[in-house]
Amino acid sequence: MALKIWMNDGLVAEQDAKISVFDHGLLYGDGVFEGIRVYNSKVFELDAHLKRLYESAKVIRLDIGMTPKQLAEATKETVKANNIIDGYIRLIVTRGVGSLGISPFNCEKPGIIIIADSIQLYPQELYDTGMKVISACTIRNHPLAIPPQVKSLNYLNNILAKMEALDAGVPEAIMFNHEGFVAEATGDNVFIVKNGVVCSPPIQAGSLEGVTRGVVFRLAAQEKMQICEKNLTRFDLYVADELFLTGTAAEVIGVVEIDGRKISDGKPGPVTQLLRKKFFEYAHGRSK
Ligand code: PMP
Repeated sequence: MALKIWMNDGLVAEQDAKISVFDHGLLYGDGVFEGIRVYNSKVFELDAHLKRLYESAKVIRLDIGMTPKQLAEATKETVKANNIIDGYIRLIVTRGVGSLGISPFNCEKPGIIIIADSIQLYPQELYDTGMKVISACTIRNHPLAIPPQVKSLNYLNNILAKMEALDAGVPEAIMFNHEGFVAEATGDNVFIVKNGVVCSPPIQAGSLEGVTRGVVFRLAAQEKMQICEKNLTRFDLYVADELFLTGTAAEVIGVVEIDGRKISDGKPGPVTQLLRKKFFEYAHGRSK
């Protein structure tokens, strides 16, 4: 069935949802976005996603032209109009239509697009057996270039690392920063478990401040697990007791091999499995 898409100030039919070839979102990747889940008809962690969107927009000096409350309403209306019960929202703010030069100052108003659709998930088998990953040669954007916390429409940095993963026959790659510390995966945050401590690199190491990461830290603390944020090296990943990734699409997924080295016994570990279960319960508001 054709979707209804939010375009600027209202819903339009999918076939009418078109943007100009002069939109700087297309010409230069000039814009910001969010990927958000819907569980049981409820938009998951909408406030956290909007906070990140408005902060990303602020950093690139993009005035969204709507208040967070208005944008939240538009998002919920789009979900409702498409009868989404469990699905995925893509919320995009482009710089808008301008001339061919890169200056954003001739773009009069931003483009707002909200798509609410079903979601293509990793197969269940991957959650049961765990994922293999590699370390990417491509390093994460330098913080003095486009700050990695900005969820911008230009994902080329991560796309280059994703290609390395796919070339190696695995779905994900871990990216390091310019100092050699773990930053994140190409579309997920990274966690290790070592001696019972659940640990993720600090955001300043060069990652997006993942909404799922924040929820998982909260759930781990509720389970009375010891948590920490500290710089991790490739060594730490190789000798971790458990390794897992978090993200809106993947939720919590165990990693069982990196660069041909098994993590522990090569199966998703008990902490990973417990956190995945707790995440499911929290997201769906019920037990598995
Ligand atoms: N890092 C990157 C580069 C991402 O694209 C994503 C997913 N949007 C994440 C981390 C995970 O963030 P979240 O949990 O908010 O989806």
